[in-house]
Amino acid sequence: MQLTIDLTGRDVLVTGNEQSARQAVRRYQKAGANVYRLSSPEGMPGDGQLPERPFLVAVVDDGGAGWLPLVERCRDAGVPVAFEPAPGAEGHVTLVGGGPGALDLLTVGAVDALRDADVVFYDRLAPYQELADLTSAELVDVGKQPGLHKVTQRDIEKLMVDAALLGKNVVRLKGGDPYVFGRGGEEVAACVAAGVPVRVISGVTSAISVPAAAGIPVTHREVSHMFTVVSGHAPLTEKEHTHLAGLGGTIVVLMGIGTLPQLAAGLRRAGMRPDMPMAVVERGYRPGQRTTIADLGTIETAATGCSNPAVLVIGEVVRVAEANRNHAEASAELSRLAASLLEA
Ligand code: SAH
Repeated sequence: MQLTIDLTGRDVLVTGNEQSARQAVRRYQKAGANVYRLSSPEGMPGDGQLPERPFLVAVVDDGGAGWLPLVERCRDAGVPVAFEPAPGAEGHVTLVGGGPGALDLLTVGAVDALRDADVVFYDRLAPYQELADLTSAELVDVGKQPGLHKVTQRDIEKLMVDAALLGKNVVRLKGGDPYVFGRGGEEVAACVAAGVPVRVISGVTSAISVPAAAGIPVTHREVSHMFTVVSGHAPLTEKEHTHLAGLGGTIVVLMGIGTLPQLAAGLRRAGMRPDMPMAVVERGYRPGQRTTIADLGTIETAATGCSNPAVLVIGEVVRVAEANRNHAEASAELSRLAASLLEA
């Protein structure tokens, strides 16, 4: 059962040993409550630090059986009691896919993991602006450091592992899906090597969702029955251009703005038609989202002002979006026309 009660300024007594109660304390403090602590049942009677009559008593299950008398006293006095399971005592790491940046594209698993975290290491492509609303955990930006030096991959892995070894529940929040150009595999390996339990929560990848934000389906019946996701981090080889051009499906490129001219030229050399439609979708699901549509022959000029983060889409599916948009615009135009005719 989930209840939402305004706890602002209310006295909440959280019981249970330090390790078990840590999360609950942070959560109630974040909700604005005046949090009082009782770490052992022996400290109970006549303790001057405790409120006369708390608004709520949160009993965290710390494995000790001694809390029953307190629970009974609360019951007799009509003070509500919330029973809280203890978080696991052993530290662990959860790699969480944060989706493309929109809050509603976080998975339920991601929201749960964030809520339960003690510390969150996040990247700039993750939905970090909303993090403070989703968790009371300590938030660490590893996308950039105060000195503007990017934290290296090895440093990130060490930070995660060290925090987990201290017994913390660590979330590593990444943009999109952790296993799509996200170095998730390396981070899992680092945890495994250090003997730290680790799990991965898949996320909604930008490879599919950012084209969708622009109305582009990566597959479409009778138009494209496959899509290939490519990293544009480094230019492709001539062989790769030839293979990609020969596939005949949709090509989705991440991190592709810097190498766009090489890719377009390479695909043309490999025989792809210059009128193959192409789209550049920048800042999907964020303010300033923009779609630039051109074709393989004109994209370098059309996309001159485009910047990261952006997803490139090459293929006939780009036309599906255009057709849908034209259809939607035509319908809107028709409704406007009908409305004005009715008014006349
Ligand atoms: N793991 C991520 C991808 C990491 S690589 C995922 O599954 O989505 C980073 C690249 O992802 C960016 O260079 C860009 O190409 C793409 N990207 C991520 N979020 C984006 C967004 N909101 N809008 C446009 N491109 C995005």
